[in-house]
Amino acid sequence: MLQVRNLEVVYDDVMLVLRGVSLAVPPGGIVALLGANGAGKTTLLRAISGLLDVHDGAVTKGSVTLDGDPIHRLRPAAVVRRGVCQVMEGRRIFAELTVEENLRIGGHTAHRQIPARLDHVLGLFPVLAQRRRHTAGYLSGGEQQMLAMGRALMAEPRYLLLDEPSLGLAPRLVEQVRELIATINSGGAGVLLVEQNATMALSLATHGYVLETGQVVLDKPAEQLLADDDIREFYLGLG
Ligand code: ATP
Repeated sequence: MLQVRNLEVVYDDVMLVLRGVSLAVPPGGIVALLGANGAGKTTLLRAISGLLDVHDGAVTKGSVTLDGDPIHRLRPAAVVRRGVCQVMEGRRIFAELTVEENLRIGGHTAHRQIPARLDHVLGLFPVLAQRRRHTAGYLSGGEQQMLAMGRALMAEPRYLLLDEPSLGLAPRLVEQVRELIATINSGGAGVLLVEQNATMALSLATHGYVLETGQVVLDKPAEQLLADDDIREFYLGLG
């Protein structure tokens, strides 16, 4: 179980951005994290994956635990070794490297298994297999998103943290990303899915949280969130 308890995060020593957030992702589950721009979703993912430091942020209260062990003081590489991998918003791939080189970098924490992982990931993403030797910077937006997800999967994560994987993608590609998340999850990985596209996220997730100015304001089974009037109005545009 990946568990966040009463987490408080501050940027630049003074700016309180998360104010006591609690959340849980069960092994093999999909959990959606919704919220307006600036609510603190990315910050929560950074706190889990050990990336707060590089953004001048720090955990000032609470904890992130993996199967009971605290991980919020670990370096990012150590968090990856424990099996928690983040795919950042904006698909940070290495634009000058080839698709395969990008994937190999994703597998660096498990050197010996790289060839097998590469076969597995290229099998999941036929489009990456076709473009294996292409320079990543020339891929389309959708392909770059696939590459970012494929790179995270190279580490064989037990938990995958996805930051807005559908952002800027055409509807057909959003559907592809949705199917991929379902496939990845059926392979056993737990998923914490940050999304503006609430319909997509809640159709996949079993449970959802809504974050507002650094606090969880709703914490419910996904189907109840889909039926919630406020959610329908603010996130689904169905008011
Ligand atoms: P978005 O969808 O826009 O990414 P979000 O819900 O992911 O929104 P965060 O990116 O976590 O929100 O930002 C939460 C708050 O923290 C915002 O007010 C943002 O301006 C602030 N913030 C984010 N990163 C930093 C930083 N490195 N230093 C200072 N403040 C930051």
